[in-house]
Amino acid sequence: MDKNSLLAEIRDRIRQSRYRLTGHAERESESDRVTRQEIEESLLSAGAEIIEHYPEDVRGKICLVLGFIKGQGPIHVVCGLGGEVLVIVTVYRPDPGQWLNWRIRNKWTMKTCHFCQGKVVKKKIRHVHYWGDEIVIFENVPAEVCTQCGEVYFSPDVLEMMDNATLKKTPPDKSIAVPVFSLS
Ligand SMILES: [Zn+2]
Repeated sequence: MDKNSLLAEIRDRIRQSRYRLTGHAERESESDRVTRQEIEESLLSAGAEIIEHYPEDVRGKICLVLGFIKGQGPIHVVCGLGGEVLVIVTVYRPDPGQWLNWRIRNKWTMKTCHFCQGKVVKKKIRHVHYWGDEIVIFENVPAEVCTQCGEVYFSPDVLEMMDNATLKKTPPDKSIAVPVFSLS
């Protein structure tokens, strides 16, 4: 079965409510705040695609589907098609630090700093983004940070998320006032 017919099969079963969610997937969807309706929406979304396929998996035909929720962005759903019902094994919001374009596992992690050769670790940081006269603060930004000199590195997907939030003027989670001093 090719990827297109697999996706068509997944969608058919979703439309017929011929699916089950594992307890594991239910716990994950809860922690990532994804509802049943959103899981269905993402698998039926126009941009949905199978990004990984493991036909030899012992649990039967297993595939990883990238789907989209309106106004929220991408989610990943691991689906099993081995039996009479579709089994949703895992649901999560992909970490932009771990994926490229939400489709490819990001294997190219930084280990040493470009500037000082210090050790680089993954961290969620607060980042101040300047855009002309505007200042936007991002929190919980996945980044790679040098433990020696403190230099910060962002992956392309993380940059895209910040660009989208800045350019599309998504409503922020909160706004704060910033004092300004002139020394002249
Ligand atoms: Zn460094």
